[in-house]
Amino acid sequence: MLILVYNEDTNNIEKYNRSFGDPMPYINNKYLIVKEFKSNSRTTILWTTKKTMIAFNNTRVRFQKGIYVGYAFKRIFEGGHSGQSQHYAGTCFDCGQIWTYSKRKELYNLARKINVWSYVEPIAETPTWIHFDKRNKNPACSAGFPLIKQGSKNTYVMILQDALNNMGRFLSIDGIFGKNTKDAVINFQRYYGLSVDGIVGCNTWRKLVDIANGMGVSNYTKYYS
Ligand SMILES: [Zn+2]
Repeated sequence: MLILVYNEDTNNIEKYNRSFGDPMPYINNKYLIVKEFKSNSRTTILWTTKKTMIAFNNTRVRFQKGIYVGYAFKRIFEGGHSGQSQHYAGTCFDCGQIWTYSKRKELYNLARKINVWSYVEPIAETPTWIHFDKRNKNPACSAGFPLIKQGSKNTYVMILQDALNNMGRFLSIDGIFGKNTKDAVINFQRYYGLSVDGIVGCNTWRKLVDIANGMGVSNYTKYYS
């Protein structure tokens, strides 16, 4: 399986080929294997960031026992998290679904204490799991999608490329916002009556999420040109 990792330190997209039973990049031992990160997504490509993987690795080391991951990566058109971006960006984990409350509480307390996550969902809001994520610092929208435009490089560009492809485009999912991606955005904006600037800010994200989210795994659900 192809795994794209955005390295925040070098501003590069790293590519890895790993089997389901292999550890994710930047993960020691088998603290998080590819299959766990993929969870029930039907994707053939995964993406995440270096800092997300290091945060998980640190959490696992401090927890000193295995962390059950029931839900992590999800493609935007597979739905499941409505407008929230973190699972789509591959920067988010829902853990401990099969555990007792006290074990979940232990992980929750640790995740808050060690301060490697941007956000740990209050336990009252996660009755049967623990959610933590790496959040984008400057969201264009409350759902956490940052403004991206030509020259941008990150996992949000991958979400965008993937969503546009599922509407009939043929962009390579590489996380790099180049001319082809910009042209596809311009067509999308024109088709849906948005301001046509090739920049994916709040309005364009909202429209994309509305259309892409939950549209299912079939190819070319909707074509625009
Ligand atoms: Zn979650």
